[in-house]
Order: sequence, then structure tokens, then C-alpha cells
Amino acid sequence: MNRNTSNQYAMQNPLTQYPQPEFPPQHQPEPGLDSKMAPEPDHGEESYVGFGRLAGRKALVTGGDSGIGRAAAIAFAREGADVAINYLPEEESDAQQVVQLIQAEGRRAVAIPGDLKDEAFCVSLIKVAVEALGGLDILANVAGKQIAQQHISELTTEQFDHTFKTNVYALFWLCKAAVPHMPPGATIINTASIQSYDPSKTLLDYASTKAAIVAFTKALSSQVIEQGIRVNAVAPGPIWTVLQPSDGQPQEKIPTFGSQTPMKRPGQPAECAPLYVMLACQESSYITGETFGVTGGNPLP
Ligand code: NAD
Ligand code: MG
Repeated sequence: MNRNTSNQYAMQNPLTQYPQPEFPPQHQPEPGLDSKMAPEPDHGEESYVGFGRLAGRKALVTGGDSGIGRAAAIAFAREGADVAINYLPEEESDAQQVVQLIQAEGRRAVAIPGDLKDEAFCVSLIKVAVEALGGLDILANVAGKQIAQQHISELTTEQFDHTFKTNVYALFWLCKAAVPHMPPGATIINTASIQSYDPSKTLLDYASTKAAIVAFTKALSSQVIEQGIRVNAVAPGPIWTVLQPSDGQPQEKIPTFGSQTPMKRPGQPAECAPLYVMLACQESSYITGETFGVTGGNPLP
């Protein structure tokens, strides 16, 4: 294993905390496997320390096999939560690593593969997660689809549809199915992006879905706060995950990925996880409807 780990708690210069460009070219077909990335991302496997913030909570993380979702799943388990993860069947090997990491904390791990583009699957995912966990206190919607295209003329209706189904429709279907099961104090955490506000020309469909997620988060938060449920979003900048080398970027951009940020490096999934934890736990009790950036210095507007 060629994983970059860092002590997340030792004071240090964030510019040099993690690998900086250049990175090797490394194309994979989507959705890609985290285990084939070089260098492998840091999801906090060896570093994240829990403090009991989520003791006894029941969490579902979509996209929990890899990247930001894996980092959130590991952190939730270390904070004391039982965790169900969803992912695509072809990601089973990445998912099994996460299952082992959750179980290593003495927490219950539930693996539920399936395609979020399918409404019936989204409904059953919530049902299966609720049954297996004995309830649902945290829904972290992290799954996402991102395929770069140079020009609108190359963006097919099929891709546009799949990006919206995965990033927006699934969010709607999952939240709709989950809310009736959620007790007061429960939280929903969505995953937006810097692209919500500052769209790249190669990400016309993706950036539009991420802007939709910010509005969805605000509107849903104002509905469900009546039930004591909070809804927030995390908006990452460039994070070193398999989303990028599996056609999320024009592949010539992979070697310098993250170099455009003031920190001159991509973020790691482990640098996103603490925000998911903060928004999931009761310490953020007066925060709802907000979107928080993890951008390496390109602030959200
Ligand atoms: P990732 O590839 O590790 O995670 C994305 C996950 O989405 C996959 O693991 C897969 O399980 C899931 N997924 C995709 N299509 C699916 C489908 N049809 N059904 C079920 N699951 C599906 O990459 P990541 O970067 O960790 O992405 C996580 C989230 O972070 C996404 O929403 C992405 O848009 C967002 N994000 C990433 C970055 C970045 O630079 N990596 C920046 C901003 C936002
Ligand atoms: Mg994956």
C-alpha cells in the first residue's frame, strides 16, 4: 500500500501536509477503484481519532466505498456510529475494505450495493438500512457522478440524464424516503462542490447538479427543521479521489490536479471527514441550511 497518511492532530504547515503535484497519469474507467490510485488517498484509515461524538448513532453513507464517503464512514464509525454504506456493485473490493475498518471499531457495518439512478433502489436502500441498523439518525449523501466533456456538443442526453439522476434525483428520492424514519436530532449532510458556485467549462452538467444541491439543501432544511431534523452541505474543492482519474477531469489535468488552489495541492478525503462529523453531531445544533467549503483556499461566495 502506498497510502499518504498524516497526523491530523499535530500542528503543521497545511501546504506540505499532503502530496503536492505532480502526480502520475492514471486513467481508470468510471467509477474506478480507490485501491488503484497512485498515490492512494488518505481517508483517515491510520489517523482519524474519534471522541464519542456519534455514540450509538445509525448512519447511512452513499458513495461510502471510496473517497470522501469512505473518509466520512471511517470517521462516523470511530465516533461510535453503526454505519451502512452504499456503492456500485463493481466497487465491492473497495467497499469490503471499508466494512473491515468499521468492524475494527466494534461497530456494525452494513454493505448495500446498488444503483442510485433507480428510484425503486433508493427507496429499498433506506428500508434495508433502517432495518439493518434499527433506525436512521444520519444520512450522508456523498455519491456523485462527474464526467468531463469539452463542449456542449459532446455532452449526450444520456450523460446529462445520468449525472442528474445520480446527483439530484437520488438525493430527492433518498431524503424523501429517509425523513419519515428520522427522529429529532437527526441530520442530513449533502455533498455540493466549489463547482456549485464556480463552474468549470468542462463540467456543464455536473456543476449544474451541484448548484441544485445547494438550493435543495436550503429548501429542505427549512421544511424538516419542524421535525427537529437539520440539513447541511459540504462543498469540497479539488480532492484527491478516484472520481478525477475516472474521467472526472480531462486526463491531462491529473498530474497538476489541485495546483490552482492557494494551497497548491489537492485536499485529501481525510481533510473533509471532520466537517461531516461536525454536521452530523449535536455540536452543530444551531446550524442548518448551510453549505461549507473545504477548498484549499478558494472561498465560497
Ligand atoms: P469517489 O469516486 O470516491 O466517490 C463517488 C462515489 O459515488 C463512488 O464511490 C460510487 O460509489 C458513487 N456512485 C456514483 N454513481 C453511483 C450510482 N449510480 N449509484 C450508486 N453509487 C454511485 O469520489 P469522491 O470525490 O469521493 O466523490 C464523493 C462526492 O464528492 C461526490 O458527490 C462528488 O461530486 C463530490 N466532490 C468531489 C470533489 C473532488 O474533487 N473529488 C470535489 C467536490 C465534490
Ligand atoms: Mg468508489
